[in-house]
Amino acid sequence: MSIDTLPPLRQVIDTHGLAAKKSLGQNFLLDLNLTAKIARLSGDNTGHDVLEIGPGPGGLTRGLLAEGARCVLAIEKDERCLPALAEIAAAYPERLEVMCGDALDVNPLDHLTPPIRVAANLPYNVGTELLVRWLTPPAWPPFWETLTLMFQREVAQRITAEPGSKAYGRLAILAQWRADARIVLNLPPEAFSPPPKVSSAVVHLTALPAPRYPADAKMLQHVTATAFNQRRKMLRASLKGLSPAIEDHLGAADIKPTDRAEQIDLERFCALARSLKSEN
Ligand code: SAM
Repeated sequence: MSIDTLPPLRQVIDTHGLAAKKSLGQNFLLDLNLTAKIARLSGDNTGHDVLEIGPGPGGLTRGLLAEGARCVLAIEKDERCLPALAEIAAAYPERLEVMCGDALDVNPLDHLTPPIRVAANLPYNVGTELLVRWLTPPAWPPFWETLTLMFQREVAQRITAEPGSKAYGRLAILAQWRADARIVLNLPPEAFSPPPKVSSAVVHLTALPAPRYPADAKMLQHVTATAFNQRRKMLRASLKGLSPAIEDHLGAADIKPTDRAEQIDLERFCALARSLKSEN
């Protein structure tokens, strides 16, 4: 059974001529049971406003509305999708607002009052750029409570990676410093139309009220970027440009000079950032 009385998504695509465009990263989800499941994985949105980026023909939008979101603001770059989205808006009066534009140019706070939830199945390059922006505002907590985002599986693994793994790096530190992050669903290429070349995964991030450990955000980003740029080198070598007393700072953070970046957990990277900051 369909989750609503609107036509099946394949019919929507045919009616509105929504042949997928590679340039916009269009790999659509056409199974409404799956989009309803992803909407549920974003949490109980009853009484919450949701920002959706890249609704396309509206599969996830329909899931979010059917699962009870109070109001969805959907930002879509492809104007061909607007008539299909207008049909959804008519089926859910006063609950769907659609903006045509590039999500990278829109400030959600001009349109929504925080805290809000974010859900998206986005082209992967735009998704990573938006995630980094949402994780690095000047102040914290951010405008969002949760982010539920589809990524290429390899990127999802980098966001949720633990120390000691190949995927562990700057993205894990950035995400886990300020949020709980976990993979909630893995999807094979065939779940999409057309199927992408790689597998995908949905990551759910919940914003922490404050960063997990104290540290200056810029210093933490600088230290981790420097450490992971040469991830195979020992830290006393890769970080020597940061301070003439780098070995003392490493010691203060309980890090051996011979350790490598991927062995160091978030708590010790934060301690290192604090020690280096105290020198300036
Ligand atoms: N959410 C739909 C689904 O699950 O079937 C579509 C997903 S498709 C992977 C990505 C969508 O994002 C497309 O509709 C595409 O046109 C849109 N898009 C691409 N770049 C965008 C951008 N910079 N801002 C807003 N939407 C964008």
